[in-house]
Amino acid sequence: TEAMLRNTEKLIFAGQLAVSIAHEVRNPLTTVKGMMQLSGKQIRPDYYSTMMSELDRMNLIVSEFMILGKPQSVVFKEEQCLAILQEVLHVFDFQATMNGIIINSNFQESLVIRCDRNQIKQMFLNILKNAMEAMPFGGTIEIDADTAPGPFQRIRISDNGEGMTDKVLRQIGEPFHTTKPDGNGLGMMIVRKIIASHKGRMSIESKVDEGTTVEICLPGL
Ligand code: ADP
Ligand code: MG
Repeated sequence: TEAMLRNTEKLIFAGQLAVSIAHEVRNPLTTVKGMMQLSGKQIRPDYYSTMMSELDRMNLIVSEFMILGKPQSVVFKEEQCLAILQEVLHVFDFQATMNGIIINSNFQESLVIRCDRNQIKQMFLNILKNAMEAMPFGGTIEIDADTAPGPFQRIRISDNGEGMTDKVLRQIGEPFHTTKPDGNGLGMMIVRKIIASHKGRMSIESKVDEGTTVEICLPGL
């Protein structure tokens, strides 16, 4: 009906608004974090790590929309997957430590994929953010990748968090579908779009109270 349509429009508008605000917030956040690091010991030491972690948390929230916010030029190139992953893991450093999360990556150094760097960064970020949010009391994230024979490279990201019911799993990637009180339900939709634009594949396995594994296949060379 017309009312429903108007609601959808409102939601989309709200989404776009959130995204553009997120973008405006990114640069000042970076400035504050940089200056905090420079100030170092002048900041109360018992506040320092919480402040850093909270800044990182804000950064993560706004980073979830990196791709949606501004149309970035899409460049498909041969990229070292490990280097991209390391950039993303850097963003999670503080947040992971604060939440008692260990991230193990068992990654073939030479793994090369044909991809758009920004998009793959976004993909890792959104998947890892979910993995972390699924483990509010700590846990382990395993990242594995192997150079499989054939045209696809396989990357696997597992957590031992709360997992998903079949119903949630079926709806994953639908815009605004979230089970979190402060979620936006856009992260996995963005991941889906990115994988599709790379002509890749994704499959997710999950068990309630056991954890979730996201497997991604992306074209190699
Ligand atoms: P959001 O994180 O804002 O809720 P997402 O699109 O990233 O939106 O995820 C949608 C939903 O999928 C989440 O609310 C959650 O229920 C479920 N989900 C995604 N990843 C995981 C995971 N690793 N473990 C448990 N649930 C997950
Ligand atoms: Mg998410």
